[in-house]
Amino acid sequence: MAEKKLKASEIVRINIRGINFIYKLIPWNYFLGFTLITIWILMDYWTYIFLAALVDNIINGAAREVVIKNTVILVGGHTVIFVTHWILAHYFYYCGSNVWELANTQLNKKIMDMDYEYMESKSIQNLRRDIDSMARDNADGGGINKLFWNFLQLIHSGINIFVMLFYTIYLAGKSSVVFREEPAKAVLFVFLFIIIFILLMGLALYKNKTAQKNIYKKNEEMLPLFRQIHFYTEEYISTEKCGKIIRMFRQQNLLSYYIEDLFSKLNSKINSIGRLDEIRNAWSGIIETVFSGLVYFILGTMVLNNAISIGSVCLYAGCINRFLFYFSKFMRVSTDLDGNTKYVKMYFDFLDIPNKKYKGTLPVEKRDDNKFSIEFRNVSFRYPGSSKYVLKDFSIKFNIGERLAVVGKNGSGKTTFIKLLCRLYDPVEGEIFLNGIDIKKYDYKEYLSLFSVVFQDFKIPAFPLGQNVAASMEYNKEKAEDALRRAGLSTLLEKLPYGLDTPVYTDFDKNGVDISGGEAQKVAIARALYHDTPFVILDEPTAALDPLAEYEIYSKFDELVGTKTAVYISHRLSSCQFCNDILVIDEGRAIQRGTHNSLIKEKDGLYYKLWNTQAKYYKTGNETG
Ligand code: ADP
Repeated sequence: MAEKKLKASEIVRINIRGINFIYKLIPWNYFLGFTLITIWILMDYWTYIFLAALVDNIINGAAREVVIKNTVILVGGHTVIFVTHWILAHYFYYCGSNVWELANTQLNKKIMDMDYEYMESKSIQNLRRDIDSMARDNADGGGINKLFWNFLQLIHSGINIFVMLFYTIYLAGKSSVVFREEPAKAVLFVFLFIIIFILLMGLALYKNKTAQKNIYKKNEEMLPLFRQIHFYTEEYISTEKCGKIIRMFRQQNLLSYYIEDLFSKLNSKINSIGRLDEIRNAWSGIIETVFSGLVYFILGTMVLNNAISIGSVCLYAGCINRFLFYFSKFMRVSTDLDGNTKYVKMYFDFLDIPNKKYKGTLPVEKRDDNKFSIEFRNVSFRYPGSSKYVLKDFSIKFNIGERLAVVGKNGSGKTTFIKLLCRLYDPVEGEIFLNGIDIKKYDYKEYLSLFSVVFQDFKIPAFPLGQNVAASMEYNKEKAEDALRRAGLSTLLEKLPYGLDTPVYTDFDKNGVDISGGEAQKVAIARALYHDTPFVILDEPTAALDPLAEYEIYSKFDELVGTKTAVYISHRLSSCQFCNDILVIDEGRAIQRGTHNSLIKEKDGLYYKLWNTQAKYYKTGNETG
């Protein structure tokens, strides 16, 4: 969120960019909007002009035909304008309601394409949430959406003010009749009128700006509250995972305390905004009343001096009434637009986040002999914004076709090693090579297509199973079924009511199939196998599996990964024995490497220590069991 005050030139630039942006999203919107504005204005003034003519006709005893003609023009014209307005408004509001939807789609595309490191940044995540909160939770709908509606209202009220100015000049011409005999009085009158007008409008503008500033301040204070409320209500109490914890640890009171407290803070902000808005409206009301009182006094004087007709009073009173209404609206909308600029900026700040990752152009060599080699050379890495090195002077080399197991304590840097290998992050120091070439030089997408990964925090979305495995709308059915069978899901496959078209989970489709955590993990493994990439990386792939399923994965591991290079991460040493190459990581350094049999002989090594500690628990289990 931008903390410093925006300069006037920045406010103009951001809003023009926003208006342009909306135009590109839905070009029709402005065309419909401007046509509608013209109709609104026509509708207002049509009534005033022809009503004034009609009143004069009646008072002056005009011929019946003239009265009928003017009545037909008044009513007929108004009806035609009204029907046209009704049809256009229908389409306009339909298009207008799409603005946020389309703007939101741009945000979604951006978030899926931005450098991965931004995804792990709290400030970027908060920015995304706040943009959403401003647009959806905030009653005023701040941001791009608000800009669209306010911009059109600004044009509408601006045109009305302009039209009214024209009438004011006309009125001034007529009023000269009253002061014909005393020109000095006329000058004084015009001077006083202008002074009063400027003072009143200045006061209105000041009150509007102060109220608007306070309203937006309250809006901003609500953003962290919205964030927390979303977390507690959507990501915590409503999920099955946390539901268990809530019940087991009887967290109900604790959570109710926090949620009620948040809502009460939110309500107090909403009430303050309501009060500020009422004060703003009251000021506008007072100013409008004083000013219209003044104008009615002038009009009355003019009628008494026969300067204007009674019909004209209808016209002027109507116009002045509209003028005041639109003047207040203009001030309100322009101050609102000013405050809203911050949220339009937030939207563009998000879209403008630059992808910093160097994306090379070298094509990845397609080798039939599968002779790929990976080397980490003196790689050091710390996460953005952190001073702690997670990997330090990390050097290893491995070749395709090998099975590399990476073991180490929790937090030792195993997953980070994979993130660097897959270029989700780049090293802070050192290089990573594929066949002797720095991986940054390869075409990014081609390089990524070398890897299939099952991350420990994998997610299976509620798409049909086949699409989930293939990660695409169109896919090869036999290949998808084969991957599912290899991952150990033959039984599930037989039970599916619609085969691969069966949606996973019943959240969005009652015909879906609910799968267990272990089955979901197998679907994630099938997804990795389907893609048939030279590298398969499994990060704690058996965490959700029962011992039998885990055993099945190990025993069939060679069959599963075939000639591919497999990197297998686990903190459980017993599950890595089947790999002929084991790498031990500790505090971000590669400290040992070898087969299980060679590592277990290094009595001073971490592997020996970890193995014995873990084995002790298994043995204890055996003894007691
Ligand atoms: P392992 O997979 O061995 O359990 P990780 O590679 O996940 O370990 O984490 C290594 C260290 O990096 C841990 O101290 C962890 O807290 C830290 N870490 C992981 N992800 C991030 C992140 N996005 N930002 C900052 N620190 C992180």
